[in-house]
Amino acid sequence: MANQEDIFKNIISHSKEYGFIFQSSEIYDGLSAVYDYGQMGVELKKNLREYWWKSMVQMHENIVGIDTAIFMHPTTWKASGHIDAFNDPLIDNKDSKKRYRADVLVEEYLSKIEAKIQKEVDKAKERFAESFNEATFRSTNSRVIENQTKIETINTRFKNALDKNELTEVRQIIIDCEIVCPISGSKNWTDVRQFNLMFSTSMGSVSEDASTIYLRPETAQGIFVNFLNVQKSGRMKIPFGIAQTGKAFRNEIVARQFIFRMREFEQMEMQFFVRPGTEKEWYNYWKETRMKWHNSLGLGETNYRFHNHIKLAHYANAACDIEFKFPFGFKELEGIHSRTDFDLKAHEQYSGKKLQYFDSELNQNYVPYVVETSVGLDRLFLAVISKAYTEEKLEDGTTRVTLNLPPFLAPIKVAVFPLIKKDNLPEKAHEIMNLLKYDNACIYDEKDTIGKRYRRQDAIGTPFCVTIDHQSLEDNAVTLRYRDTMQQERVNINALAQIIEDKVSFKKQLSLL
Ligand code: ATP
Repeated sequence: MANQEDIFKNIISHSKEYGFIFQSSEIYDGLSAVYDYGQMGVELKKNLREYWWKSMVQMHENIVGIDTAIFMHPTTWKASGHIDAFNDPLIDNKDSKKRYRADVLVEEYLSKIEAKIQKEVDKAKERFAESFNEATFRSTNSRVIENQTKIETINTRFKNALDKNELTEVRQIIIDCEIVCPISGSKNWTDVRQFNLMFSTSMGSVSEDASTIYLRPETAQGIFVNFLNVQKSGRMKIPFGIAQTGKAFRNEIVARQFIFRMREFEQMEMQFFVRPGTEKEWYNYWKETRMKWHNSLGLGETNYRFHNHIKLAHYANAACDIEFKFPFGFKELEGIHSRTDFDLKAHEQYSGKKLQYFDSELNQNYVPYVVETSVGLDRLFLAVISKAYTEEKLEDGTTRVTLNLPPFLAPIKVAVFPLIKKDNLPEKAHEIMNLLKYDNACIYDEKDTIGKRYRRQDAIGTPFCVTIDHQSLEDNAVTLRYRDTMQQERVNINALAQIIEDKVSFKKQLSLL
């Protein structure tokens, strides 16, 4: 069986071969950590965005959407803390000359210890079978306790060092843990430095007038600075949310793993404004709601887990990630943060404008607290495509590559084929295209054998193929072929639209939430 690394490589080349994702400016050898979406990718991405938007905005009476500019007044980023604190601690290995994020090195070291603990637990579970009590085992087994204590000690030390910005201590932790460079295998580390992740450019036509502005590193601030505009113009009552999707830019130091970590990416964020004191309740509500949303995609519930943050960002009083099992392991897919009143208060202070809400039930003005949900659209895309990608050995010995995408997300819903290119079959096929294309993304294909045409559609995840043969001209029926089972059935043309609609409708999917 192919290992995860090979599968991941296959997913990347499949994405290119079938028009999902291309490297940016490929003819110039590409631009690091920047990607373009091709003709299939753009449809899948659009469907994912639409599913998020409908479930957040359309399905919630108290959530509205906006679309704010990428450029914002530079003071925004002073107020939000990004100019001073949106840094990653960097460390270089002198032998391999490779650069790493110090926090990632430590996190990976800790997850290895975590994996050791899990191995002990699994072993004991097997040995003791039904009499096994995991909680008791974890609290009494000496090796587990020792490793758990190690994790906690390093975590506390690391958190303290980062909070106080003590970079020599950060380096010392890496030395003490005997962390080696995965490339050179050596412990020959440089000092740790802080590196700001924001891209800057200048606005103004004459250089003397130009001022430095930033490409937004998150979409959230566009929501905060418009909080009162939306609340007043929409007569919104707390609790309410504002959602937006859009590009964000980060000068990531270590940008690997395809579209997992990009320098230009898309976020889908929702800020939920609540009465102070109720934020924990809403934080738990959104944790649960968002996990349910991810599970609704049908990629497998065991592929998700929560990871609570130990080092909280400067603005948060509780935070967690929803992690997904990517081909390279469990990694963050979405962040859920209780951001307190940090952002609105900071914007009040820097702008001199009040950003408060009058709560008529309490007869009181206050700065609302905020719970944020923030998911990366590209990471979501990677999660979906990597679970959908399937290589299957068929009975005749050939291999079939399929994207088992949930039908409502598939870039193309129906492919229409005339059996041959003559005898009025193409005309009949176009009639069917005209029937279906208003509701569905359809594709017409008359090249190669039917078998090859089916395979091409399997590879892009098309749930339905419709073949028109000579008989169709007589009885108005066609062969409908299903992607997942490869089964074929004879169906009257008049019944097609409904059969397809039942499988691909957003409505059905949304009603399951
Ligand atoms: P990480 O720890 O992986 O750098 P983060 O904690 O900085 O991510 P957030 O600031 O919480 O990420 O951003 C919210 C979401 O935006 C993330 O959960 C992720 O899905 C997405 N995201 C963040 N950075 C990137 C990136 N460089 N490329 C693609 N998606 C990203």
